[in-house]
Amino acid sequence: MTAPDNAAAVMIVEDEPKLASLLADYLRQAGYSTTHIANGLEVVPAVKTAPPDLILLDLMLPGRDGIEICRELRTFSDVPILMLTARVEEADRLTGLHIGADDYVTKPFSPREVVARVQAILRRSAHRQSGSSQVGVLALDDEQSTARYGGRNLDLTPIEYRLLKTLYANKGRVFSRDQLMDKLYNDYRVVTDRTVDTHIKNLRRKLDQVSPDHEMIRSVYGIGYKFEE
Ligand code: CA
Repeated sequence: MTAPDNAAAVMIVEDEPKLASLLADYLRQAGYSTTHIANGLEVVPAVKTAPPDLILLDLMLPGRDGIEICRELRTFSDVPILMLTARVEEADRLTGLHIGADDYVTKPFSPREVVARVQAILRRSAHRQSGSSQVGVLALDDEQSTARYGGRNLDLTPIEYRLLKTLYANKGRVFSRDQLMDKLYNDYRVVTDRTVDTHIKNLRRKLDQVSPDHEMIRSVYGIGYKFEE
């Protein structure tokens, strides 16, 4: 059975040939196209060359282990990663999740279960990608200058949008009011410090409406503002 051209591409990274081909069979039957890599060293270059829609990543691999691979992938890609692991210890499970993997299954697993997980992850990521430049739950859409939080539109003015984008794109970095003003206004119109404070205040109010428990924009006393996750 051949997958249609628009089928989501799943990269299977698994050094046990039988298991890899079993997974490939089930995934293709479910309508996915698959590629297979058996050596850990080949994964990162392959993802850079032809990014898949999802990676099944075995933990124990020749060349390089799954954890290291996952960490490096996360430095340049947010491709969904489903870890396959034979280690059942809780500590390892946690490690598996803290390195940026989306989910994991422990061996022995049923291929059906893996397919179900793959479908669930791809559904979630399709949902995530419906906004652009999405990281976490805050989604910024440059084309429309709109921001959504947990799917709710924040209804920002263009200035508020630029302010949020500047802070959000540089999480943790503290911006002075002067620096923010430079980012907000392309012309040399005269604005005061108070103007920035007012926009920040309005932006916070809007963020607060969608996420009351969490203060995303922090004041740093005597310096300015920063975005905190
Ligand atoms: Ca293995």
